[in-house]
Amino acid sequence: MAFTTIALALALSFQTAAPTDNSFDQKASWAWLTKQCDFGPRVPNTAPHVKCRDLIFEEVKKRCDTAELQPFTHKWSQDGSTRKMWNVIGYQNWDTATTRVVLLTHWDTRPSADQESDEANRKKPIPGANDGASGTAVLLELMRHTKSVPKSLGICYLFVDGEDLGPGLDEMFLGADYFAKHQPAKKPQYGILLDMIGDADLEIPIEPNSYHKAEKLTLGLYRHAKSIGMEKTFPMKLQGEILDDHLTMNEHGIPTVDFIDFSYDPWHTLSDTPDKCSAQSLGKVGKFLQSWLNQEEPWKIK
Ligand SMILES: [Zn+2]
Repeated sequence: MAFTTIALALALSFQTAAPTDNSFDQKASWAWLTKQCDFGPRVPNTAPHVKCRDLIFEEVKKRCDTAELQPFTHKWSQDGSTRKMWNVIGYQNWDTATTRVVLLTHWDTRPSADQESDEANRKKPIPGANDGASGTAVLLELMRHTKSVPKSLGICYLFVDGEDLGPGLDEMFLGADYFAKHQPAKKPQYGILLDMIGDADLEIPIEPNSYHKAEKLTLGLYRHAKSIGMEKTFPMKLQGEILDDHLTMNEHGIPTVDFIDFSYDPWHTLSDTPDKCSAQSLGKVGKFLQSWLNQEEPWKIK
């Protein structure tokens, strides 16, 4: 009897340890992160930017019911050039759904490493392993797994461009702003933003603007994290206020939470490289989102 119990326990633990076909695969997610970084900095009007756009768009076309490129331009204050940008968007179950969620992240990277101590380095573009590639890597992998969510849940995968052009706030969040002003006919009911979630030492406390502008959603997500034993990664405590893509989403009627770990020393420096990030962190965020989306009625937030 004892032996049977142990054998069964072993069998079960083996089953949960090996990724099943539909469980978020952190190694696959990590491969998306390094692939983006291998292109080089993804700054608008550069070849790596276009390569990365194409990479994301090809994957979106494969995994979603419909895929679109949403182009827009911006005349950059730094050199007067017109920068070409694209949001890459994929929809799953969107037309048939009764509830619609937008999952968003920025895929562009900062053209200037303005947090570098050495002034000569401040004009160089950042590698953006965490700030750009990490959220994108999670959503690209998650997209493979969400076709199996109930048909009543529609998901919009929104890879926004121009989040980090800068240098000032008036030249940031450009893609999210463009999307929020040009929403699909069937509007999203809420949004979840990922930004800088690849830090090897990952902790994502509650971001105050998310809490104040989308309170029920924010609390719902953090309660869910606790219910599945992930309160260490998503502790129910406040961090400092962050200005990010979620602000324009909230302003335009889409309650949106920002998942961000802002305690990241290489932020906006040339040291924002893959070795500061980890596959485990991507895995935690991916598995959390997968669990949220697979709840029976995760989307009843109102
Ligand atoms: Zn940034």
